[in-house]
Amino acid sequence: MFAKRLAQVAASATMKVAAEAERLRREGYDVVDFSAGEPDFPTPEHVRAAGKAAIDSNFTRYTVVPGIPELRQAICARYRQDYGIGTTPAEVLLTVGGKQALFNAALALFDPGDEVITHAPYWPTIPEQVKLMGAVPVIVSTSSSDGFKVHAEAVIAAMSPRTKAVILNSPGNPTGALIDEQDVAAIAEAAAARGIWIIVDLCYERLIYEPVPHNLPKVLFDRVRDRTVIAGSASKAYAMTGWRCGWTIAPKELTAAFNVIQGQSTSNITSITQKAALAAITGSQDAVTAMLDEYRVRRDNIHAWLTANPGIQCVKPKGAFYLFPNISQLLSPDRVATSADFAQQLLEKEHVVVTPGEAFDAPGYIRISYATSMEQLREGATRILRFAESLQPAKATASH
Ligand code: PMP
Repeated sequence: MFAKRLAQVAASATMKVAAEAERLRREGYDVVDFSAGEPDFPTPEHVRAAGKAAIDSNFTRYTVVPGIPELRQAICARYRQDYGIGTTPAEVLLTVGGKQALFNAALALFDPGDEVITHAPYWPTIPEQVKLMGAVPVIVSTSSSDGFKVHAEAVIAAMSPRTKAVILNSPGNPTGALIDEQDVAAIAEAAAARGIWIIVDLCYERLIYEPVPHNLPKVLFDRVRDRTVIAGSASKAYAMTGWRCGWTIAPKELTAAFNVIQGQSTSNITSITQKAALAAITGSQDAVTAMLDEYRVRRDNIHAWLTANPGIQCVKPKGAFYLFPNISQLLSPDRVATSADFAQQLLEKEHVVVTPGEAFDAPGYIRISYATSMEQLREGATRILRFAESLQPAKATASH
């Protein structure tokens, strides 16, 4: 009945967990929700004010499809300031979140049968969009044993004559891992030599905790500028998820293709959002730093609390706002056999919502979003530890 392209594509796995959590909440349970993929902070005051001013001045009509020139100019200026790359407004296009940025790129670049390389654990939208185009995701696994490092050799080894693009995500969802500049450089050189596109999802680019070299835009522009797509987003950096604002920075010709796609689908992003985003991108960045500082304290706490149980092993994430602990030592075939079962029972018994690793092609793990208050983190950690202990009676006895 529906188009064949849908047969390949899975609905968001996190939806099931969210629906279950909502049911418990309605039944009156005190649910601790660690599933949110969005900041708990309000949109900064000056950004909200710019949105309100846009409404009050009737800035409520269609704009040009790629977004108002001053906003595209502001994005160029920000990337020049932050990364030292020179771009022009003709290379920038505003999208309905980073999601549409990636979607435009997939529609413009992937044909049925093309191979597109990405790394796991991944944000599911990345391979699902590839499949939606009839292309084939080729997954390079990474391991918690070396901090989910993306090894350039593994990505290059996965390249074939059918490879159309490599999609990189750093900081990554769900791991919070960063991809090293050297690895991106090596991948970029191999891609340039073979005519492969590099799409880099930098939606968490402003959420990096320690000052490490991570100038991926420059690394890519220096090596494969004519085949680089940067996907950015205001969602996480400025606590603007609901405003729906992302962008692409891509070669002029490809940006023109995005313009055609978007002109026949959503057209411009919301005019009001554009004014708010302009304030966010050109105004004081203090709010970004303040949120980052708060996330860092939360990360350090929740990481320390959970890893007090030796059955919970967790790399300390370098960016984004997710913890991705390995809980496989707590699993056993006769009790809680998989991380999906773990998440389900944790929800039923302790009313804590986490996303099972299965959603990210990483069974044995759970994803915990720490974009929530310290009180909720403390309470949720207490419940998770209690649940973990209930799974280890044999070990508890043995230690006495
Ligand atoms: N990329 C990654 C890795 C994400 O986790 C998300 C949001 N969950 C996005 C892109 C897109 O977010 P938005 O569309 O709100 O910009």
